[in-house]
Amino acid sequence: AYLSEIESCDPEIGAYLAVTADTARARAAAVDAARLRGEELPPLAGVPVALKDNICTRFAPTTCASRMLEGFTPPYDAHVVERLEAGRMVPLGKCNMDEFAMGSTTESSFFQITRNPADPSRVPGGSSGGSAAAVAACEAPCALGSDTGGSIRQPAAFCGVVGMKPTYGAVSRYGLVAFASSLDQIGPLTRTVRDSALLLDVIAGHDPRDATSLAREWGSFGSQLGREAGGLRAALPAEFFGEGIAPEVSDAVKAAAARYERLGVRVGEVSLPTLRHALPAYYVLSSAEASSNLSRFDGVRCGFRAEGCRDIGELYRESRSQGFGAEVKRRILLGSFVLSAGYYDAYYKKALEVRTLVQQDFARVFERFDFLLAPVAPTTACRLGEKRNSPLEMYMGDVCTVPVNIAGLPALSMPCGTGAQGLPIGMQLIGRPFSEQLLYRAAYAYE
Ligand code: GLN
Repeated sequence: AYLSEIESCDPEIGAYLAVTADTARARAAAVDAARLRGEELPPLAGVPVALKDNICTRFAPTTCASRMLEGFTPPYDAHVVERLEAGRMVPLGKCNMDEFAMGSTTESSFFQITRNPADPSRVPGGSSGGSAAAVAACEAPCALGSDTGGSIRQPAAFCGVVGMKPTYGAVSRYGLVAFASSLDQIGPLTRTVRDSALLLDVIAGHDPRDATSLAREWGSFGSQLGREAGGLRAALPAEFFGEGIAPEVSDAVKAAAARYERLGVRVGEVSLPTLRHALPAYYVLSSAEASSNLSRFDGVRCGFRAEGCRDIGELYRESRSQGFGAEVKRRILLGSFVLSAGYYDAYYKKALEVRTLVQQDFARVFERFDFLLAPVAPTTACRLGEKRNSPLEMYMGDVCTVPVNIAGLPALSMPCGTGAQGLPIGMQLIGRPFSEQLLYRAAYAYE
């Protein structure tokens, strides 16, 4: 059913870079056969799932939507892919994204644009725009994305679905093509809160191949899901409701807060004064890490190689010049700059200090509150092409999401209304580290 939905919708939406129909049919048939034999199967056995194209798969190319990796099929599966397979889930294909997950509209993909199913003249958000659009258009019941600075939560908000960015270390990054390793985290995009909890159950857990993976017993998010939110304490952070946030967005989130009060949640207001430094710190740190991570794409080991080069220097230069798009080059330049000898203290080191301050600011607030309620993005989805040529404006759109990554916190994005043009508005529930269970409970109560 999902494959035929893809066939009819995806020519317009453009959510998928590759549809793995044969693999999907074979896996689904194997699950059916096992069921007929009376085998006991995991909870999501037979449920189809779509994957962002920066998650390594042996059964399909993994391109990161870049010319640099066009046609590249990894020799191994990511940890999350092994988990999906152990859970007997059915992979539908690989989803479009911003090139190497850098962007907020999915327009920096080398291959195609993706349209927002809520309004096809608009972007689906990014960088996991393909995953969010696939779920919103019913071209998949659920999908995986990655979130370095908002790339699960923001497209979820723009497309009207649920996106979960887990605590840093909850899900192994093994086999996720690295953007900024200290911030990257894989998570689910789904139509409901319960689906999100069930999918996180499949992918969360310790993996010795990722040194930052947490050795922790998570229990089950899906099977312990309660709807009781009474007695929880929520806070609206003033900094997320100030200048630059569209009134329809802040109104919708405040209306959600009022509804939480009716559900018995005590709602207060807080101020996190260091948050205004989080955005510049994020762009310094994430670009620094990206410039280092992307140095492996040299035209020699894998991926794109320029033709007709006379020596190795020219081969590196030409392969990288032709293989990477403009946004990726911008990040590499910025990252190399802030890491260079004369500027390291002034930029990179200072950004690390800001990171500590942001973490402390959140920790202080979580002494008194269970979760924060905030907008995901300052506006609803923009029109295709509207922000393509103004990178700074695009970066400003990440102001609500990046503090969460800087502090390594879990945050869940879910719909909380529609704007004047009928476009989805999202809110995020931000929790202290390891509070996924609580966030799911609060979100489920609202839903
Ligand atoms: N939009 C942000 C950026 O471009 C976040 C991207 C992400 O989370 N992968 O860096």
